[in-house]
Amino acid sequence: MSQQKGEKRARIPDHRHCIVCGRPVPPKEEICSDECRNVYEGRLRRERRTRIFLLILYAALLASLFFFFFIPR
Ligand SMILES: [Zn+2]
Repeated sequence: MSQQKGEKRARIPDHRHCIVCGRPVPPKEEICSDECRNVYEGRLRRERRTRIFLLILYAALLASLFFFFFIPR
């Protein structure tokens, strides 16, 4: 006997959740308030900075490996 989990949630109207605080927002919105937008944008900025930093770190590592193996002595 296999029980099907109700995949259709017909009762819940179309909506999304604020990607910052999780409160329900209208389908067209992603964020519920200016406050959450600030939080979200700050988070994005920090994420981007971290990604760039990791990229630089990775490139430096690759470069040092490259020089370690290919520098003529
Ligand atoms: Zn929110």
